[in-house]
Amino acid sequence: MLRDKKLVLLSHCLLNVNAKVYGLANYKGAHEELIKFLIEENFGIIQLPCPELGCEGIRRWGKVKEQLDIPFYRKYCNEIFTPLLEQIIDYHKNGYRLAALIGVNGSPSCGVSKTCSAASWGGEINDRRTTEEMMQQVNTIESPGIFIEQIRKLLEANKIYIPMLAIEEADPAASIADIKKVLRGEG
Ligand code: SF4
Repeated sequence: MLRDKKLVLLSHCLLNVNAKVYGLANYKGAHEELIKFLIEENFGIIQLPCPELGCEGIRRWGKVKEQLDIPFYRKYCNEIFTPLLEQIIDYHKNGYRLAALIGVNGSPSCGVSKTCSAASWGGEINDRRTTEEMMQQVNTIESPGIFIEQIRKLLEANKIYIPMLAIEEADPAASIADIKKVLRGEG
């Protein structure tokens, strides 16, 4: 039977950059280097939904984790992941290898080990703060985004543990090298 029984879960925008907040893209469609590698290595690819696109659409403003850390958004993340969770449970039970989830570090939703944070963000955008002042309040913190937190909880509740990796938006080349090592079983 011609199948390798190995799968990766990818954040939506790694296959479709159009979902990202406008202005953030650094590739034109799909993340070519990563996707080519996954195809060459015979991984099946499961595309996660984009929770921010689903909630707020393509004209949304960029946000920080604190703005998304509300019960409704966590519940929404659970709802959109549940159909995939049911498939993952079935793959897992039938001996398929769920090799990794690959997220996007820096995202307030899909960051795996890093997300963006600003305790003071919120309110009217013309409240006398300049854009520069607002950007100075943003930090990268070592914490997952909200969607990844919810995915991890749902997987763990089903005793499924998938290695979680991420593309670093600030340094994609280095992070892809690390991802390749892990998926080839070298790291
Ligand atoms: S929410 Fe996740 S999938 Fe959507 S654009 Fe941001 S990083 Fe990509």
